Amino acid sequence: MTSAVGAGVAAEFQELYGAAPEGVWAAPGRVNLIGEYTDFNEGLVLPLALPHTAVAAVSRRDDGLLRLHSRDVPGGVVRLDVAALAPGTGTGWAAYPAGVVWALREAGHPVGGADLHLASTVPTGAGLSSSAALEVVTALALNELYGLGLTRPELARLAQRAENGFVGVPCGVMDQMASACAAEGHALYLDTRDLSYRQVPFDLAGHGLRLLVVDTRVEHALGDGAYAERRAGCEAGARALGVRALRDVEVAHLPEALGRLSDGTVRRYVRHVVTDNERVARTIALLDAGDPRAAGPLLVEGHASLRDDLRVSCPELDLAVESAVAAGALGARMTGGGFGGAAVVLVEEADAEAVAGAVTKAFAAAGFAEPRVFAAVAAAGARRLR
Ligand code: ADP
Ligand code: MG
Repeated sequence: MTSAVGAGVAAEFQELYGAAPEGVWAAPGRVNLIGEYTDFNEGLVLPLALPHTAVAAVSRRDDGLLRLHSRDVPGGVVRLDVAALAPGTGTGWAAYPAGVVWALREAGHPVGGADLHLASTVPTGAGLSSSAALEVVTALALNELYGLGLTRPELARLAQRAENGFVGVPCGVMDQMASACAAEGHALYLDTRDLSYRQVPFDLAGHGLRLLVVDTRVEHALGDGAYAERRAGCEAGARALGVRALRDVEVAHLPEALGRLSDGTVRRYVRHVVTDNERVARTIALLDAGDPRAAGPLLVEGHASLRDDLRVSCPELDLAVESAVAAGALGARMTGGGFGGAAVVLVEEADAEAVAGAVTKAFAAAGFAEPRVFAAVAAAGARRLR
């Protein structure tokens, strides 16, 4: 299937630019099982790659021109001068791949021009990281074409730098690491302090379980300012506690730490980050022990923390979680940045259809748009297709 996808995107590239691409690469979107808003606190996360991918056909150019095209966005080919790339020069979707070129060059890597044609099956704005998929596929292609020899974590860091410094979104590094480093059949246990990671077997089907993704179809873009506010609040908390990052606060010392914080908002943010970090560690222990069912209550706890302490949920996400659990799911939580986007639901395989149906029914009864529900199977990280 992937080779057919690669051939299709290559054929479109040829039609568009008049020559076959030098190669075709794919990078997946991701869904995060647990560990939310921990990645900019140097904490722990546990995402898995989705079968949905951004696919890019790419060739080098020797005239310093960057030509960018997406099958999924109207507006034709975007042309940019590589030497003139600077934050603010790229607008719209093209800022993501252009930002990667900028970040690579800023870091001293000899990247020149390129032609790129993109087609992605990652839903945009659903909290499933279509942006990271686009950045990582661009970074991987340029790394190979220009022989840069960068590692996957190095590419993920540069992709994050593109999104932070060029696009202007203050995201953490989880999404890019998941897209760049995930392995099929596994969740990625990532320590965002040093980008060390471990592939954790995540064979839910082998346990008779399923992970559903409920895309609420509420675009999360409105939350951008709120995201930056949470980030600033967490940094203020770390400063007030005298630690490098909230990751350094042990859950056992949390009551004492909270007692030292005078700002009620910062206190809530700190409590979320410290407890969610601990929930990642507990989830990993359960997965390692072959007991994924027992992770259900941790998902529910994590959702309550995001809803009540960090306050990044929304009525649709809360309803997805409540209706799934009421219909017999083992656990559920919002995933990603919140304010819309998606929830994950851990469910017995035998109950999956009934739970999905109950969530859909609850949305209809509440007058919400029909959610898109699909099963998440842990897929491969970024790779070359041809
Ligand atoms: P998410 O990463 O959760 O999907 P973001 O707001 O971070 O949401 O990123 C979405 C943006 O990424 C889109 O608005 C668009 O600019 C870019 N993007 C994603 N997929 C594509 C695509 N197939 N073609 C062009 N741009 C895309
Ligand atoms: Mg994104």
